[in-house]
Amino acid sequence: MPNPPETMPNAPETMSETTQDTALGERLATQIRTAGPMGVDSFMAACLGDASDGYYQHNDPFGVAGDFITAPEISGLFGEMCGLYLAHMFELAGQPGDAVIVELGPGRGTLMRDMRSVWQTLMPVLASRPVHLVETSPALRRAQAAVIAADGTAPNAPGAPEIKWHDDVASLPEVPLFGIANEFFDALAVAQCVWRGSAAEGGWHHRLVGLRGDDFSFVDGPALSTAELADYAAALLPEPADGDIAEICAAGDQVIDTLARRISRHGGAMLIVDYGRNGNAGDSLQAVADHRPVDVFHQPGTADLSHWVDFAALSRSAVAHGCRLIGPVPQGRFLMRIGLAQRAEQAGSHGEAEERRSLLAAVDRLTSPAQMGEVFKVALLVPQGTGKPPGFESEAASPAMKESGPELGIGSNEGPRGNRGNGGA
Ligand code: SAH
Repeated sequence: MPNPPETMPNAPETMSETTQDTALGERLATQIRTAGPMGVDSFMAACLGDASDGYYQHNDPFGVAGDFITAPEISGLFGEMCGLYLAHMFELAGQPGDAVIVELGPGRGTLMRDMRSVWQTLMPVLASRPVHLVETSPALRRAQAAVIAADGTAPNAPGAPEIKWHDDVASLPEVPLFGIANEFFDALAVAQCVWRGSAAEGGWHHRLVGLRGDDFSFVDGPALSTAELADYAAALLPEPADGDIAEICAAGDQVIDTLARRISRHGGAMLIVDYGRNGNAGDSLQAVADHRPVDVFHQPGTADLSHWVDFAALSRSAVAHGCRLIGPVPQGRFLMRIGLAQRAEQAGSHGEAEERRSLLAAVDRLTSPAQMGEVFKVALLVPQGTGKPPGFESEAASPAMKESGPELGIGSNEGPRGNRGNGGA
């Protein structure tokens, strides 16, 4: 999840060091010696999620003291704007009474806390809905429990939201889902393929992690099977040259499959925010430790590994299961269009000069193309429909909010709108 531009692919320099100098590294090396090279996806999944030594099991990676800073940790304005946006979507969907709030990969819980704080003031009915968090790290689950229950008491105490944690999206309930995934998809394991040979006669091969001596190293694996080629056809790069790399994130596609099945049947809207492209990013696997890019094999389990999200691939999964993925649009444009600058001005209007300066700095960090504004993208998963919701209009269009719920299709496809719940705030 590293986000500063300097951590992006083509970053100027990385500390190039390949070492197995951790318990996890030793175990992975032994596995390779015994069973042969492993997929890049298996390597990445182990580095991030290994039950005893994975990155997210024992680290608090966020913030100045950690490895990277995410948008919600930069400023509460990010959570406020996302909360307002989801409240608008919930309203357009007819405020279904059985809806739940969902967040994938909530980190420290800051974003959910900030969204809920907006709802408590402006839309209490949304603040009263159960919160479903998809999170694998026990340490982060504890942090989320403390932060989201506003007073720091037990999460299910009276007055605090009902919180349920899931290891996986598969156990989310079959009801309308409204929520967000910020910097979640980039952390899902990605496999790599490499083109070998000439454009006319070459072929795609699996790219694997093997050993050269005692050091981890990328090695070519077997050619992709006919079935794999058919499956990956839309994602693989056209006209590849020798050495070109493409990434396939089957785990991300699966998450969208599951969400899209729920949302196409019951309605809902999920914001997906991440760095990435509307297409395959090639070789985007990256590692960050202590705010600096490091080699992807650097001390397995101690650095954050991530990749650029292929929004076009996510969109194909959404469409295949009855939904639309609207966007992606650059984060800066999205936030400005939905009123971030006005909100910051309003928030600072009664404050000291110093407070106003820090709000402006946050707006700049979140929206400027040189910072998070362009590399980060925003997309919206909704049932099929035709309208363009706020924030996603074409560049020339007026940002006025003219759409209607039915046109956007964000309610349930199962029956008339507004007949399933109490509908009222
Ligand atoms: N959304 C937060 C944190 C992003 S970091 C923020 O913006 O600050 C990624 C989050 O996803 C972490 O909470 C991490 O533990 C979680 N995560 C990573 N891989 C996961 C997986 N496969 N399943 C569930 N959660 C995962």
